[in-house]
Amino acid sequence: MLPVSKSISSELSVSVKKNKQKSSEGTAHLISPPTQIWKSRISWRITLAVFMTILAVQAGILNITMNKFEMGRLDHLREIGRSAIVPLIDLSVRNLLASPISESDATRLLSTTKVNGIAVYSSQLDLIKTYGEPLTLVMLDRESLSKTHRSYDGGSYELVFRANDLNRPYIIVARLDSSHIPGELQAYVKETILIMLLMSAFVTTVLMIAMGRWLLEPILFMRSNLIAASENPENPKITPSPFDPSDEIGGAIEIAQKLIQQNADNIRHIRGAAEDKIHKLAYYDTLTGLPNQTLFLQSLTQHTVGGDDGKVDRFAVVALDLDHFKDVNDSMGHNVGDAILRGVGKRLRTSMPESATVSRTGEDEFGIIMPLSTDINSARDVAERVINVIRSEPFKVFNEQFQVRASVGVSTFPDDGTDPDKVRKNADIALNRAKEEGRDRIKEYTEDFDNAVQQRFQMLRDLRDAMENNQLDLHYQPQLDLRSGKVIGAEALLRWWKPDNSKEGGTFIPPFEFIPVAEQSGLIVPIGEWVMRTACESAVGWKKEHGTDIRIAVNVSANQFSQSDICAFVQKTIRETGIKPSRLELEVTESVFMDDIDHTVQTLKELHAIGVELAIDDFGTGYSSLSYLRQFPIDRLKIDQSFIRNALNNPDDAAIARTIVSLGHSLNLKVIAEGVETKDHESFLVKEECDEVQGYRYARPCPNEDFVKFVTSYNGKLSSFDK
Ligand code: C2E
Ligand code: MG
Ligand code: MG
Repeated sequence: MLPVSKSISSELSVSVKKNKQKSSEGTAHLISPPTQIWKSRISWRITLAVFMTILAVQAGILNITMNKFEMGRLDHLREIGRSAIVPLIDLSVRNLLASPISESDATRLLSTTKVNGIAVYSSQLDLIKTYGEPLTLVMLDRESLSKTHRSYDGGSYELVFRANDLNRPYIIVARLDSSHIPGELQAYVKETILIMLLMSAFVTTVLMIAMGRWLLEPILFMRSNLIAASENPENPKITPSPFDPSDEIGGAIEIAQKLIQQNADNIRHIRGAAEDKIHKLAYYDTLTGLPNQTLFLQSLTQHTVGGDDGKVDRFAVVALDLDHFKDVNDSMGHNVGDAILRGVGKRLRTSMPESATVSRTGEDEFGIIMPLSTDINSARDVAERVINVIRSEPFKVFNEQFQVRASVGVSTFPDDGTDPDKVRKNADIALNRAKEEGRDRIKEYTEDFDNAVQQRFQMLRDLRDAMENNQLDLHYQPQLDLRSGKVIGAEALLRWWKPDNSKEGGTFIPPFEFIPVAEQSGLIVPIGEWVMRTACESAVGWKKEHGTDIRIAVNVSANQFSQSDICAFVQKTIRETGIKPSRLELEVTESVFMDDIDHTVQTLKELHAIGVELAIDDFGTGYSSLSYLRQFPIDRLKIDQSFIRNALNNPDDAAIARTIVSLGHSLNLKVIAEGVETKDHESFLVKEECDEVQGYRYARPCPNEDFVKFVTSYNGKLSSFDK
């Protein structure tokens, strides 16, 4: 965070300095063309307001000056009148009630001057004489002396000349022609208004230009900056401000630009951080911090393309899978599982050089890309280093030690494939091989693996066809009670006769070849459903047609537990075929317990509640055995045929068979032995008090009609099988 804000402020100070420099250099240019100014509404409003104000002020002034002008004219008129009258007053007239102006002078005065009527008063306001037009103003008292009369049309004024004005002991009221004054006043007003308008226009133009230059231009400049910032806030196109930052608007622009810049920097920073986070989430595993599958594949592609120099190195691809990691997770909890995964990731990373890519590619899977050099020049060396670092010492989690084992598959680029997909797939194929061969080992990819994989794919295609073309069949093998000798059940076993062009017309594909393919592909679910339905229908038919009321045992794979709702299907089959639930037995191997144990227990309980019987097949060969037995609601243990086969010549196998029988009995379970081929096998089992038997000694698995023949012809005596 800190370095970013620092860099923001330093960048800003640089840009501010630049701006100052620019404006001080006087390179300011018109940002907005002059037309903008005349379009600006705000300019117009201000200008109009200013214009109106100037007009109003000037109108006020005009009003005053107009009066003054009129008064001035009047004074002038008074002066004309006075200077015309004074010389005519004859001071020699002693009679104060006689007119001092002679008739002839008066006539001349009236005809040659603007005076067109006069009234002469004595200083005591006695009217002495009037000449010319009659006057409106009459001097009645002293107050009348201060009056002036203006005719209605303004064409004449009647003025009072006092004794002081005349320097004569008379008061004269003169009517003066003022018809020229309105015209002069009008001309004066016109002229003044014109000047006013010109002045206003000049002032407002200057104002507009000044506003445009100092106000509008910077505002428009700022606006264009803000628009640019809002359109592209991350990368706003901001031109350096030509305006002096020391004035108010220049300062505001500088601050706005700073904010825009800061905003852009912040967005970039936030986006950068978000991108980093997204990148981390998309390409790294959160638990171990190692690259994930996506990054692993990218890195793989990169290695096959080579570096900048185009040089492509040989490298090994390692696929590693922790053995039985699911068990640890299920039994010890996810915290322990996670801690082990973190520990494995850490060990792998530190044991490999920097040039290697170590990634977590799946739940308990790791992938490594390791360039081969003179030090480590084979994929095998890399694999050994990997497996040894896991085996070297146990992992310590919550003060407990966990010995982790791993299966490893390796392939080499370009020896085992020249495209990234191929080398990775080949490492996976090798890994699968390592797992199939019993785990905790290294397998290097060879081309034979490929052929095996191809064959499996072919087998899968053929199996699908077989399903669709009804090439699958069920054979039945009887199960007998060892004490009574009676047939008490039958095991349904799948058969696949694949027609071909050979002279036999086809080949028999043994279950151990196609069942694993069906299980891996998920095809076992529909196949298993078909088996169960067909087996139940057969058992119901035996009872109906021949009165043979026996149990039918059906093999169920672990996948059928995890990939389908087996309980619902069993219920449906019981309902639809009409079989008695206790006459159906499901054989499961111990491998079902290695998946989700809670789910398995739950399913087995539900199945038991339906009323079907449950048997553990191939008992004694599995991984879990004894510890779980008590938890499961099972009815029967089926001793694996390998122990029976060897019981007579291998004391260990005999002991195991014996132990299984007594264990079963101690848990109140029936025990059945399969693979009973000989009388000796049977005798051994009779001695060990085994309950039931199944094997070639009594009958091989056979088609439905043969099975019916066997059951109906059997006399119920085990001795009848003695040769
Ligand atoms: P499994 O369930 O243990 O079946 C018993 C196998 O032992 C059968 O082999 C049977 O033919 C064979 N067998 C019976 N008695 C004798 C004997 O006295 N000597 C010898 N050597 N073998 C004997 P099969 O039919 O080849 O089946 C092999 C396995 O394939 C079965 O083992 C079972 O795990 C699986 N399988 C067969 N049918 C189905 C099925 O419908 N569904 C599933 N999921 N698995 C099936
Ligand atoms: Mg079986
Ligand atoms: Mg078996």
